[in-house]
Amino acid sequence: MKKSLQYVLRDRVTQATLGTPERSFNWVTAGFFLLIHAGALFAPFTFSWSALGLMLFLHWFCGCLGVTLAYHRLFTHRSFNVPKPLEYLLAFIGTLNLEGGPIFWASWHRRHHAYSDTSKDPHDSNQGFMWAHMGWMLYSYPEWDGFENYSRNVPDLAKDPVHRFLDRYFLLPTIALGFLLYAMGGWSFLVWGIFMRIIFVWHTTWLVNSATHIWGYENFKVKDHSKNLWWVALLTYGEGWHNNHHAQARSAQAGVMWWEIDVTFWVIWILEKLGLATDVQRTTRPVK
Ligand SMILES: [Zn+2]
Ligand SMILES: [Zn+2]
Repeated sequence: MKKSLQYVLRDRVTQATLGTPERSFNWVTAGFFLLIHAGALFAPFTFSWSALGLMLFLHWFCGCLGVTLAYHRLFTHRSFNVPKPLEYLLAFIGTLNLEGGPIFWASWHRRHHAYSDTSKDPHDSNQGFMWAHMGWMLYSYPEWDGFENYSRNVPDLAKDPVHRFLDRYFLLPTIALGFLLYAMGGWSFLVWGIFMRIIFVWHTTWLVNSATHIWGYENFKVKDHSKNLWWVALLTYGEGWHNNHHAQARSAQAGVMWWEIDVTFWVIWILEKLGLATDVQRTTRPVK
């Protein structure tokens, strides 16, 4: 990765001021990641067209609605509002991706925006692609881990008992979905609907932290390395327009140019037309 002198100097200064958080390798998370990836190895032996269709549908249903729309644009950035029952339903869908609960997820991502590409950014892209992609998650951070620590920058969600429940028991909905899929389509639906779909959602989510902080173009001058990358945007329903997003994090609209397809914003727009999404924040900053 090529960095301008301005970035190198800024990164050195922040590194010295902020310090690097203490960390130790987390064998439990590593084993869990390995287990889910190992489950996906059964995919070729359990393939069917309906299982592939199910996987693609659930990738949109859980990934777009759960991660992008709910965890990211609604909970982390409050770029729009929805009625409470819908908010809880979206949080429930979010848990189905095994990326942690809504409070946990929003906390790490708010930290990323507060300290983008510095040593206090959990997935600081200065430490390379693999670190930003998944390496950072394989460690424990005493300063950040535990509900007491991570709920501090998400007081809005942490005071809600439903979100606290989903945050704590985020694994349960996926286990229930696993039983349901097995009952519907046996091993084929279980492997494709849970394991394959989850690693597909994981790696596409993670590309936003890795690839779009390294490759792509900029519409806005920002202090971090965030970029717009079309193929990540297609895989993540609009999240790949990451330079736009860092420039205006509160906007519900990640795509700002006519070609920047932003499927998640289409869903928010439909919710708004139905009267279910209100106070939808839109892009206002002029492109450089
Ligand atoms: Zn970012
Ligand atoms: Zn964000």
